[in-house]
Amino acid sequence: MTNTSTNRSGAAAHTVGLDIGGTKILGALLDAGGGLVATTRLATELGPEGVVRSAARATRDVVAAAGLDLSAVGGIGLGIPGIVDAAAGTVKHAVNLGVRDELPLAERLSAALGGVPVVVENDLNVAAVGAAHVLEREGAQAASCHDDLTVSDGGAGAVLAPGVPASAYHEDLAFLALGTGVASGLVMDGRLRRGVSGAAGEIGHVPVDPAGPECSCGQRGCIETFVSGTALATAWPSRHGKPSPVELFEAADAGNADAIRVRKRFADAVAAAVRMLVLTVDVHYVVLGGGVAQLGRPLLDVVRDSLREQAEVSPFLASLGLPERVTLAPSDVPVAAVGAAVLGRRDERAELPAKVDGAAPAPALAGTKTRGR
Ligand SMILES: [Zn+2]
Repeated sequence: MTNTSTNRSGAAAHTVGLDIGGTKILGALLDAGGGLVATTRLATELGPEGVVRSAARATRDVVAAAGLDLSAVGGIGLGIPGIVDAAAGTVKHAVNLGVRDELPLAERLSAALGGVPVVVENDLNVAAVGAAHVLEREGAQAASCHDDLTVSDGGAGAVLAPGVPASAYHEDLAFLALGTGVASGLVMDGRLRRGVSGAAGEIGHVPVDPAGPECSCGQRGCIETFVSGTALATAWPSRHGKPSPVELFEAADAGNADAIRVRKRFADAVAAAVRMLVLTVDVHYVVLGGGVAQLGRPLLDVVRDSLREQAEVSPFLASLGLPERVTLAPSDVPVAAVGAAVLGRRDERAELPAKVDGAAPAPALAGTKTRGR
């Protein structure tokens, strides 16, 4: 958070969101109503100076793409693959960006752009916010077309109360990132939930098998040792130059018995993670994202099959409608950049820990999710 963050009126302003990865920056411009106006994509320059410079360039690019200038922008949100202190606006460690020492990124970018307020957040968390924003808008559109104001396609708790505008409805959501590791971002009642130490949603390190493989975190049999892209690459190493998940699914589709077995075990493990999320926080959606989710529909199908199988022996699970709650991250929208832009809005910033009256400052561990996407 910079000292300049409250200086601009910004009430009806556009906001910019940047998803800053190790090779590219994806940018999104939202209008005051949350509609996506423009996007951009450019290469990331590494190192502290490079990150600030390329983020400034991406901001100017996406604003110019909409025929506007910086005076139209009321706030900027950044999604960073690393350890972030959202309350302070600093990046503490982001190896993929060449940032090893604490970088006051919000302050530096704000200064480079004439004082536009900037917020910084972990990249998995911005993806969760972005997915919620996209699904919420789709739900609101659906609701406005129906007299009964039902947003849902079968999930629980999705009926709007009479008189509540569809725009006020928030879909509770978990974004389950199946990347190098496994972690989830949680959006509840329209707000990002970080937890007191930033560890909310770190389900990758919930042990599920005491006799399972050793995990990088020091425990044994964590969900991550069964579900992640890394676990998949170990179980089914790439042999033909394609990503391991793609080769696995191709071999399984071709009838390879080993591949079918490995795919089934993987799908069951993802389904277990979904079940854990729903039974813990009862979210309406569990959105599959991250590198492995680029498999798309075939992944969704096998995970839903596993959830149906599990529900067959449990009327309790069946009553929760788990298969209907799982969905894929939208592939036609840069969800992380959109989520960053949502967090760049004034009302969202007011909910950051440092701005809540009487709340303790976020502890040093804030935003420890580093390996989700
Ligand atoms: Zn672990």
